[in-house]
Amino acid sequence: MRKFNFCAGPAALPEPVLRQAQEELLDWQGVGCSVMEVSHRSPEFTTVAEEAEQDLRDLLCIPDNYKVLFLQGGATGQFSAIPWNLFGAGSKSADYIHTGQWAEKAIKEAGRFGEVNVVASSEDRNFSYAPAADAWRESKDAAYFHYTPNETIGGVEFPYIPEVNSPLVADMSSTILSQPIPVEKYGFIYAGAQKNIGPSGIAVGIVRDDLLDRSLPDIPRSLSWKVAAEGQSMDNTPPTFAWYLSGLVFKWLKAQGGVEAMAALSQKKSQMLYDFLDRSDFYSSPVAVESRSRMNVPFVLADDSLDKLFLKESEEAGLLALKGHRSVGGMRASLYNAVPLEAVEALVSFMADFEQRNG
Ligand SMILES: *Cc1c(COP(=O)(O)O)cnc(C)c1O
Repeated sequence: MRKFNFCAGPAALPEPVLRQAQEELLDWQGVGCSVMEVSHRSPEFTTVAEEAEQDLRDLLCIPDNYKVLFLQGGATGQFSAIPWNLFGAGSKSADYIHTGQWAEKAIKEAGRFGEVNVVASSEDRNFSYAPAADAWRESKDAAYFHYTPNETIGGVEFPYIPEVNSPLVADMSSTILSQPIPVEKYGFIYAGAQKNIGPSGIAVGIVRDDLLDRSLPDIPRSLSWKVAAEGQSMDNTPPTFAWYLSGLVFKWLKAQGGVEAMAALSQKKSQMLYDFLDRSDFYSSPVAVESRSRMNVPFVLADDSLDKLFLKESEEAGLLALKGHRSVGGMRASLYNAVPLEAVEALVSFMADFEQRNG
């Protein structure tokens, strides 16, 4: 029996997608073997790759002057790839906003290859908010400006898009495809797949094509966006199954009404949970109201000695993976696209019942 899965990543996948993959597993498209067992250069797989790209372009209205890349090494690989790809055109310094653990990892990695200016940080209040736009000023000669629109661990989401002069780079690992985005405001968008796209093992990159000529001269081949773009993301063998499954998710998203429909649903799901948290004295949200994530909702119990019991009983009630990140404790419910409204209804009703019995 499938349960409601609130895991932060690898996360829930749409059930119809899993069913289709199951049906096609042994004999994919009449080929006589699975999609995992054909050449990535075969006409059949080429169609998968091309359709996945086109569907993603349609979903996010990606302009023609942007390349779509299917990358390896996860979002973490891009923490390194970003400075390697963008520090070669003069400036070797970049602006970063520090909003929590993922931003920090990106900052540390970039700092190995150039100078990082942390233009704003929310460390003063334990990374519980997104710094306001008037709280920081970008530096003059930055090669790019990096931020994390949604901090998956802290559950903090930017309510605005930074307006900056250098190419804007965004780690959208946990928010991509949950709402429309004005791609033309960005230089580079990237996301590990295992939150809101597909299985782990693949990452998506969307890069403005004029940024493909700014790499450091001795960039490792496997990190080069230009090499990836010129080789249709197949400079080496790509993770074909993850690519195929991501493609099925894109088609499922289109059938659901695309990112507009996902935005409306995300709003509804997260609002239901936040409203419940705000009405309760038993539970609370540690995140500033205006920066609350629609994708990852951390919450704490007023009496944390009940945490263990909460997790045990929620698991028994068919609500999976509500434990908060090991670094922050408490609980976290991740509400990605594949998590249905009924999952949040079940969660809220369990939480109300748990409060009644233990409050
Ligand atoms: C999960 C996550 C990452 C790390 O992704 P990997 O694919 O494991 O490297 C980076 N940034 C954010 C915002 C994430 O949520």
